[in-house]
Amino acid sequence: MRWLCRGGGIFCYLLMLVSAVTAAEKKTAVIATIFPLYDFARAVGGEYISLSMLLPPGVEAHAFEPKPGDMLRIGGADIFVYAGRAMEPWVDELIQGVAAPSLRVVDASTGIAVAPAAEQAGEHAAHAGHSHGQEHVDPHIWLDFDNAQTMVDTIAAALSAADPARRVDYAENARRYKERLQKLDSRFVEFFAQRGSTTIVYGGHAAFGYFSRRYGVSFVSPYRGFSPDAEPTPQNIIAMIKTVRRSGAKAVFYEEMIEPKVATIVARETGAELLLLHGAHNISKEQFAQAVTFIDLMEENLEQLRRGLSGR
Ligand SMILES: [Zn+2]
Repeated sequence: MRWLCRGGGIFCYLLMLVSAVTAAEKKTAVIATIFPLYDFARAVGGEYISLSMLLPPGVEAHAFEPKPGDMLRIGGADIFVYAGRAMEPWVDELIQGVAAPSLRVVDASTGIAVAPAAEQAGEHAAHAGHSHGQEHVDPHIWLDFDNAQTMVDTIAAALSAADPARRVDYAENARRYKERLQKLDSRFVEFFAQRGSTTIVYGGHAAFGYFSRRYGVSFVSPYRGFSPDAEPTPQNIIAMIKTVRRSGAKAVFYEEMIEPKVATIVARETGAELLLLHGAHNISKEQFAQAVTFIDLMEENLEQLRRGLSGR
C-alpha cells in the first residue's frame, strides 16, 4: 500500500482508513475440539472471534475422529484448540496433515497436572481406558474447575498472541469467567462439605476422576475405563446393584450422549431414581442452538446431586 501513498493526500488517507477498519473488524477464526473448550473460547473471545466446534453437537466425544473435511476447516482457522493427547490421540496426525504454517495449535491441557490411572479416585475406576493414545491418563481435566481456569488462561493467551490489539479485552473476559468458575467451585465445596462422606452411584464411564479428587467424593461405576466404549461386565453391574441396596442410595446417575442402559438396569432393580450427571464432553443440538454454557451444565449437576443424594 505504501507505494500508493507516496504522494500523500486524501486518497492516501482514505486508503489508510479503510485498511484500519478492515483490520479492526477482522475476527480471529477459532476451532475448538470439544464443548468445554468451545465454551471457554466463547467466553474469552466474545464478539472478536468467529468460533466453531469440531465435534458436532450431539455426538459422543470419545468415539469421534476427524474427517478430511475437518482438516480443511482447521487449515482455514487462525487457532486450533484441543483438550490434550489423552482426549484427542489423533491430534498429531491431524496437524501434520493440515497445510497451514500460520495456524496456532493450542494444547489446553498445558500447565495442568494430568492424572495417571493409578491416582484415579475410587477402586471401581482404577483401571485405565484402552481407547486413548495416552493410556493410563485421565482426559477429563475440565471437571476440576481449577483446571478449567488454567484452560481459560491458556485460551486467552493464544487469542492475545493472535490478536494483540484485543489483549485487554481478552484478559478482562478471562478474569470474569474465572471468577464465575471460582464461585461455582465454592458452591460444590460447600455442598459436599455439608454432606460429609459421599458416594455417588454412577452408571457412566470414569469421567469424574478429577471431580472426585477435588471434592473428596467417591464414585461407584460399573465401567473400568475412561471411555464409554469399554463395556461393563455383568459382574460389575451386579456388584453395583448390591452397592445401591447396601448403601441405600436414592439415585443412580447416568451420563450424557449415551443411552443409559446400565444405569437403567440398576435403577429398575433397586427402585432408585435415575438422574443425569453431565460430564460436559458435548451438548445436544438443541442445547447448542440455545447457547447452553458449561456453567449451566455444572449448575444443573449441582441440582441433580442435591436431589439424588438427599433423596427428596
Ligand atoms: Zn469421557
